[in-house]
Amino acid sequence: MDICRLTLHELRDLIRGGEVSPVQAVEAYAARIGAVDERVQAFNSLTTEAALRRARKIEGMQAKKEPLPPLAGIPLAIKDVICTKGVPTTCSSRILEHFVPPYDASVMHKLNDAGAVVLGKTNMDEFAMGSSTENSAFRKTRNPWNLECVPGGSSGGSAAAVAADMCAGALGTDTGGSIRQPGGFCGIAALKPTYGRVSRYGLVAFASSLDQIGPLAKDVRDAAILLGAIAGHDPLDSTSAEISVPDYEAALTGDVRGLKVGIPAEYFIEGMDPEVEAAIREAITTLEGLGAVRVPVTLPHTEYAIATYYLVATAEASSNLGRYDGVKYGYRTPTSEHLIDMYMKTRREGFGAEVKRRIMLGTYALSAGYYDAYYLKALKVRTLIRQDFSRAFEACDVMLTPTSPTAAFRLGEKVEDPLQMYLADVFTISANLAGVPGMSINCGFTGAGLPIGLQVIGKPFDEGTILKAAHAYEQATPWRTRRPNL
Ligand code: GLN
Repeated sequence: MDICRLTLHELRDLIRGGEVSPVQAVEAYAARIGAVDERVQAFNSLTTEAALRRARKIEGMQAKKEPLPPLAGIPLAIKDVICTKGVPTTCSSRILEHFVPPYDASVMHKLNDAGAVVLGKTNMDEFAMGSSTENSAFRKTRNPWNLECVPGGSSGGSAAAVAADMCAGALGTDTGGSIRQPGGFCGIAALKPTYGRVSRYGLVAFASSLDQIGPLAKDVRDAAILLGAIAGHDPLDSTSAEISVPDYEAALTGDVRGLKVGIPAEYFIEGMDPEVEAAIREAITTLEGLGAVRVPVTLPHTEYAIATYYLVATAEASSNLGRYDGVKYGYRTPTSEHLIDMYMKTRREGFGAEVKRRIMLGTYALSAGYYDAYYLKALKVRTLIRQDFSRAFEACDVMLTPTSPTAAFRLGEKVEDPLQMYLADVFTISANLAGVPGMSINCGFTGAGLPIGLQVIGKPFDEGTILKAAHAYEQATPWRTRRPNL
């Protein structure tokens, strides 16, 4: 048996049954990382020793016949934007290269309490700004399906680690698609929860009204388990919702008869890759074959989503990133003449090009004279986009769309052209603006062998129905059995 090939739920059951020990699981994944991560470059840092210590502790509990927590001994990877006490949290930025948080994010408390084991921190676009992980200050993560292609971003390290079997599951974050798009590019199950479903306490902020933490997983059941482990109200995050967390695994009934699946007209656009479109249409037919009912819907303000997002997200980022000034923590320039000089040099030397571009765009959108014309207008359009979703969801239970207009692109292909990179998020951004949950699952491959992502969007706090539909589809199709050849 190859432990690394198991899904999280299979490994969980084997650990519970005493057939695999937590130490064996950590050792197997550490060996796998050793064998393939030199090529994939998914991890920024490894915490193998701490993982082994934790695994031994869980074995001690097993020996004493103590009840095991739900994720006992499950090795996970964590995006390097989520604070981990005593473990560097760099956001793949020079400015936080040596930052070691003195506290854990709330999701880390939850995972620790659930018995999970952290293998390491994964690479990402700097401060989660990007769609290819090429904006990392440290390394270029590769797509396990084709090492010449990007894994997507910004949670590219987490997605690649899951797809390459270097962990049993991972956490990422999604502000405009950063869980779903790399999930789609890497052929895995990746879910952005409803805004407020998961605490953001201890998540380094990019755009606070859009950011959400969520799971990247080997299959839909694994995503359901991980979501259940991290979801719920947190007094430390006032935007986390006081809505009880259902048993997401129990939602996976396989029964989608009568489920109304909305097909938004605006998500099938000219210029879309024909292979992607064909795979999505085929997936819709498959769900119909399982008894789901297709309903045409419209999201009329879709064409404004990218412009709206790049005003709201950059405005919030320019404010959130004001704290990196070299004073309290993070990088500080070694030589400066006076305080203002120190601020300027620190930020000039510490931030990469894309982060600077966003700070400048956001500062401009918020500045006197432009605030009404840009930022305020963007907030109004955001409301219209949110209303589009509530109206469409009067007629359907979930919506099906492509996750991205194309499969993974080649490294370097879009780095010179930020606008092309921004356009790649056209199908994922609206869900963040509206605050609704969305998931990407694999729905086939291009002729070149790259995965194609199917996006399932749901009503606010109805992740259960997304997971049910995605799971029924996954069980009816062979895609999960294919693995990249590394
Ligand atoms: N690609 C989008 C951006 O660059 C989304 C990033 C994200 O979701 N963190 O902003």
